[in-house]
Amino acid sequence: MAFEGLAERLQGTLNKIRGKGKVSEADVKVMMREVRLALLEADVNFKVVKDFIARVKERAVGQEVLESLTPGQQVVKVVNEELTALMGGEQSKIATAQKPPTVVMMVGLQGAGKTTTTGKLANHLRKKHNRNPLMVAADIYRPAAIKQLETLGKQLNMPVFSMGDQVSPVEIARNAIAKAKEDHHDYVLIDTAGRLHIDEELMSELDDVKELAKPDEILLVIDAMTGQDAVNVAESFNERLGITGAVLTKLDGDTRGGAALSVRAVTGTPIKFAGMGEKTDALEPFHPERMASRILG
Ligand code: GDP
Repeated sequence: MAFEGLAERLQGTLNKIRGKGKVSEADVKVMMREVRLALLEADVNFKVVKDFIARVKERAVGQEVLESLTPGQQVVKVVNEELTALMGGEQSKIATAQKPPTVVMMVGLQGAGKTTTTGKLANHLRKKHNRNPLMVAADIYRPAAIKQLETLGKQLNMPVFSMGDQVSPVEIARNAIAKAKEDHHDYVLIDTAGRLHIDEELMSELDDVKELAKPDEILLVIDAMTGQDAVNVAESFNERLGITGAVLTKLDGDTRGGAALSVRAVTGTPIKFAGMGEKTDALEPFHPERMASRILG
C-alpha cells in the first residue's frame, strides 16, 4: 500500500502526543523533529518539508484551545489540516468547457501511465459524469501506444480516433476535434507523444498541439513511484508548457508519498486524479483531505 512507511511513522509520532492533556513547546519541538524526518524519508521535497514544519509549529504552539479536544488532539488536528492544505485543500475537478467539446491534452513521459490513464479517464467520464468522450491516439512515437489505446477502446466499447503513426500529432488533433464536433462528443482526450526524457523536440511538439487544440485542460501524468523525479518532471512541464493539473499514477504501489505531498506545493498545480491500479476502473478523483486522513490514520 502507498505511504505505508510514512503513515506508520507519523501515526507513531502523533500517538505519543495525542493523549496528552498538556502540550509544551518542547513536546511540539520533539514531535516536529520526528515528523520532519518522516517526511524527508518519504522523499518529500526539502523546501516543502521546511515550510510545512514552520507552519505547523507556529499554529501548534500559539493555538487557541478548543474545549472539545485535548491539547494533544489539537496538535494532531493542525498536522492533518496542514497536510490537507499541502495537497491542495479542496478537491480540484476536471474542467468542463462552456461550449463542448472540452479538450483535454494528456501529457507525460513514457511509462508514466499516460495511455492507460487516457482510457481510465474516458471510462470515468462516462460512468461518473455521463459523458461521451472521444479518445485520440496522438502518441506516434512509442511503437505500441496507438494499438494500446485502440485495445482499451475496444475493451471499454468506446471510440478511439487514430490516423496511424505517419501523420503529425497536430494534424491528428485537428482531425480529431473536427470529428468530435461532428459526432457530438463532449470530451476529447488527446493521448500525446511521450519520450523517455524531456527534450526540446517533445516540448515544441506539445506546444504546437496546444496551440491548435486550445485545450481546456492539460493533464500531466506522473508516476508517483518516482518521487522527486516526478516533481522535477512536473516543474519542467509546467514551466515550458503550462499544465492545469496532474494525475498521479501507481498510488496502489509502495510509493513513499513524496510526489503526492510535494507536487502541489512545488508547482502550484492541483492533483486531479490518482491512478490506483492497472485496470480501467482504477482511477479516483484526488481528495486531499481523505489522503491526509489516510496517511494519519
Ligand atoms: P505511457 O507510456 O505513459 O503511455 O504508459 P502506459 O499507459 O503504457 O503505462 C505504463 C505501465 O504502467 C503499464 O504497465 C500500466 O499498466 C502501468 N500503470 C499505469 N497506471 C498505473 C497505476 O495507477 N497503477 C499501476 N499499478 N500500474 C499502472
